[in-house]
This record gives sequence, structure tokens and C-alpha cells, in this order.
Amino acid sequence: MKLLQQGVVIKSTGSWYMVRMADGRIWECRIAGKFRQEDKKITNPIAVGDHVNILPEESGESALIKEILPRENYVLRQSPRRKHELHMLASNIDQAMLITTIVNPQLKPGFIDRFLMMTEPFNIPAIIVFNKADLYADEDFDTYAALEEIYSQIGYQVFLASATQEKGIEPLRELLKERVTLVAGQSGVGKSSLVNCLEPSLDLRTQDLSDYSGKGRHTTTFAEMYPLKSGGFIIDTPGIKTLGFSHLEPYDVAHNFREFFALSVQCKFGGQCLHRNEPGCAVKTALKTEEVSELRYFNYLNILQEIEDQNYWERHREV
Ligand code: GDP
Ligand code: ZN
Repeated sequence: MKLLQQGVVIKSTGSWYMVRMADGRIWECRIAGKFRQEDKKITNPIAVGDHVNILPEESGESALIKEILPRENYVLRQSPRRKHELHMLASNIDQAMLITTIVNPQLKPGFIDRFLMMTEPFNIPAIIVFNKADLYADEDFDTYAALEEIYSQIGYQVFLASATQEKGIEPLRELLKERVTLVAGQSGVGKSSLVNCLEPSLDLRTQDLSDYSGKGRHTTTFAEMYPLKSGGFIIDTPGIKTLGFSHLEPYDVAHNFREFFALSVQCKFGGQCLHRNEPGCAVKTALKTEEVSELRYFNYLNILQEIEDQNYWERHREV
């Protein structure tokens, strides 16, 4: 009888899965049978980061995934094409690193908060990196300072970096050691450049047109896990264009803004408070005393509004 072997999914194309074993061997795998998802809206049964048990096939060339071990956590996003479906970006991660920039492309208001909505359900520590610092004018540094204060105050780590000038790299490299880190960002922020900088053994394709020939370079169409020389792994994910949340309820938003959630025990309506016009709302009070950031609150209201608008037809479908 052949024994099952345990490995980690490092890439998934939807029909094939690459699974790395403890000895470094990589198996090309297919799924055997059906795997039930706790949440039926999740389209992919297996995500990068999943620990699985596989059974090599007779030929010895490929294997079957027989079992998915329980996940410690996972990151879900709304499918960019089908908004009623969810895609599991990755699982079993220690932390998430969001690469962003203030300029080129210009920072999208609310994007950071939207990203954090994906990591909060499992309290996954998030690191926010502002790349392209070499392009910042004085007012951009002011913006950075303001954002640094807002996000570090509520417990996120914030960094300034420049992939081009290789600045601010060392502290990030330190953070990646011995951990599994999901790396994400909007297209064009320099995520691939920064990852290449953090791990020179990698050669992710960057978007520079003059660089386009780059044969043999990795492209990020699917999430993919790479080992780091210093120990640890990164999971590179496809560039994000927008993040929608039509699968969520207003309370999910309130619960995933961590400082609002912490304050909600003091709200008159507790966990039922959406922190808008409810009486005795601790978030509104903290907003007045500037303990809660106006920017965060503004972005929160926007997401809430968007969800209420998008969900309208679903809520009234039976009527
Ligand atoms: P990705 O889409 O986030 O993976 O971004 P890329 O790594 O492909 O970079 C997009 C463009 O931004 C490329 O032209 C890079 O050369 C440029 N870029 C990346 N990092 C920096 C940086 O720190 N400073 C400047 N000035 N340009 C950068
Ligand atoms: Zn409240």
C-alpha cells in the first residue's frame, strides 16, 4: 500500500496544482474527487498555502491530492469578474504585506482600508509598504507621515521604501525571515520590483516595456509561493485593480475596522452599532476627540454605503 505524503500547494492554475514536499521535490497534482468548501461561494477548492496529502500515481510523474489539512487562516477576495463569487487568494499565512505608493500611480483613497478588510477576519498581521519614495515631493512625504501615524496607531506596521534605489529594504527583509508572507498590491506600484529587491534569487517580471523580452521570468497571473534564502516564503499575488465587498454585510465591515470593533464594546448598541447615527456611539465620540481617524471613518462609511447599495437587489429579491 502506498502512503500519503504531505506537502504545501505553491501554485494553482485551477486544474493543476504544484505541491512542494518537505524534501523540496515538487509534484504536479490533480484533485481526486470533490472537496467541499465551508463557504459555497468560494470558487477554488484549494489555495496556495494549503497543506495537503498527496498520493503519487503509478507512473510516478504526477500525483493526486487526496486531502486538505485544516487551514489556520485564509484570505478571500471577491472575484473580479463574478461579483457573487469568492476567490481564496492564499491560506496558512503568517502576515500580509501590502505594497503601495503615494504617486505613480496615485494612491487610491480607501484602498488600504479595503485591503485590510481581507486580512482582519483572521487577524492576520498586515505590513503596509509605501514604495517609490524616490519620486515623492515634500507634500507626498507629508501624506506619508499622516498615513504612517494613522495606521501604526491602530497596530499595523508601516514602511517607506524605494525598489529603484534599494532603500528601506533591510527592515522588510528582516520581517520576511522564517515567515510565510502574502505580498499584494495594485498593478504598477512596484510589487515585483520590490520582491526582486527583497529576494535577489527571484526574477519576477516587472512592467517596464523595455524589459518585455524577459524570457523565463515569472509572471503573476496566479498566486505563487516562493522560498526565501533567509528561510520563510512569500506568496506573490496578481496585481489588484479593485476590491469589492458585495458578499459582506454592513456588520462585517464594522467588525473588520479593528479600532472601531475595539471601541464597540462601549457603544450603547455594542456589536450591533454601525457607528453612524446610533445614540451613545463610542466611535463617533472618539472621532470628535480625534482618537479615531477621520480618513478611516470616511472610508468606512464609503464601504458601508457601497455594500448597502450593491446588496439592495439581493435583499429584495424575494419581495
Ligand atoms: P507591479 O505591477 O506592482 O509588479 O510593478 P512593477 O514592479 O512591474 O513596477 C512598475 C513600474 O514601476 C516599473 O516601471 C518599475 O521600474 C517602476 N518602479 C518600481 N519600483 C520603483 C521605485 O521604487 N521607484 C521608481 N521610481 N519606480 C519604481
Ligand atoms: Zn458605535
